Amino acid sequence: MRAALYLRISKDKTGEAEGVERQAEDCRALIDAKGWTLVETFTDNDTSATSGRRRPGFEALMAAVDRRAVDVIVPWNADRLYRTPADRLRVVEACRQNGVSLHPVRGTGIDMTTPNGRMVAGMLGEMAWAEVENKSERQRRANRQAAEKGKPWLTGPRPFGYDRTSGTLVEHPTEGELVRQAFSLITSGASLKSVTRMLNEAGAHTSLGNEWRHNNVRVMLLNPLYAGLRAYAEMPPLGSKETARSRPPAEERQLVPGRWKGLVPEDVWRASVAILRDPSRATNVGNFSAVRHLGSNLFRCGRCADMAAAEKRSGEPVMGVNYTNPRRSGERGHRIYKCKRCHMSRRADPVDAFVSTVIAARLDRDDVADLVPTNRISSTEVAALTHEAEELRGRISVLPDMLADGDMTRDQFTRANRRALDRLTEVEAALTRAGGSHVLAGMGGPGTGERWLTSEDLGWRRAVLAALAEVVLHPVSTGRPKKGEGINPDSISFRWRGDS
Ligand SMILES: [Zn+2]
Repeated sequence: MRAALYLRISKDKTGEAEGVERQAEDCRALIDAKGWTLVETFTDNDTSATSGRRRPGFEALMAAVDRRAVDVIVPWNADRLYRTPADRLRVVEACRQNGVSLHPVRGTGIDMTTPNGRMVAGMLGEMAWAEVENKSERQRRANRQAAEKGKPWLTGPRPFGYDRTSGTLVEHPTEGELVRQAFSLITSGASLKSVTRMLNEAGAHTSLGNEWRHNNVRVMLLNPLYAGLRAYAEMPPLGSKETARSRPPAEERQLVPGRWKGLVPEDVWRASVAILRDPSRATNVGNFSAVRHLGSNLFRCGRCADMAAAEKRSGEPVMGVNYTNPRRSGERGHRIYKCKRCHMSRRADPVDAFVSTVIAARLDRDDVADLVPTNRISSTEVAALTHEAEELRGRISVLPDMLADGDMTRDQFTRANRRALDRLTEVEAALTRAGGSHVLAGMGGPGTGERWLTSEDLGWRRAVLAALAEVVLHPVSTGRPKKGEGINPDSISFRWRGDS
């Protein structure tokens, strides 16, 4: 193990300065006793960690951790290394991400070499986050007040599709239409690649003047700004470099109505988000575990559905995907859908084949559009839902102030907040379902089924499936299926969205 020694010399009244040599000796003794190799010593001289002044030694140490040049940091005690919550968070997160342990001479550290140690590191990380978040509560509040007023961001690059005029956003004369086209393409099954091509062929550039790339397009389509909504921005925790990764995506944060006009309705934006955020979508950045399954997190469990119906409650867990263990060496395990609650499972390949055939046949009919309930949700109803979402967001945003001003008790706040959030979740789900009609726009008729079957865009295939029907998998008797045995059609039910 490559060890780095960290020393901080502070000339405070306790006479620590004299103790530094002794500290260094203690650290070296520990490194020797463990059989580690001392590769570098980082020292900060006469600087207080709490003053916020730069500590070159600390920064150099963090850089060494980030490039994984060390395996273990040895300070005399952890307080030498960090005195502010932000520093602690930085150290804990850097250690966790790079698998670097922290082993102070005195006190507890972080052991990244054992599963238990890593678990403790995770908990320390959570605590460090909480600590920092409390600290930055004041900034977040200030930021939320700005967001409540729905002001657009006035710093950073101009959002594509808009001009920034007198403190707000105004549709750009040519780009606005391109944005609408981009949304319409993605909801009708086009790949990000073809949307990117469309933008580049139209001669459009990002607002930074660059050629469009998939990821820019994806980021754009996920932005609530285009639905006239502003995400309440969490302040990045102080001193953290890992903000983007640890913050929830914009569309999952609290949304407030913006003071500008959206380029697309909220339900269209939600439909795009549903497609782009689909866990199975191969193009999802950083989603290495993305496997291509038609029904994971989509198909529902029939056994749990029956139980729920008997107990007159809602809630049917979705089916995840697992692989069975190979029975003998050399035999490959097969894919199964498995209920996340009751663990009922079905072999996935025959289920997918059967469901695909049924869906494709349905898509070939001319009346696909009639099957979608959103066609029965009139545009006035969508408008009413949108309006209700706006009101709820407004209400949610004033609650903290009422609590702070003593207009309500903590209990009242919690209840009111919960109620409003629950309803908002329902309304947003209804809007996402309404957005499903956009996914099916222009579909139906001979050839549609084939197009759906052969599409390589699994995210879109799943969005179409979800817009058309809810698929419920019922338990079948265990035991190995006989060769050539087909699937029992009764063991899979389709709840077509149009049937009410
Ligand atoms: Zn179940």
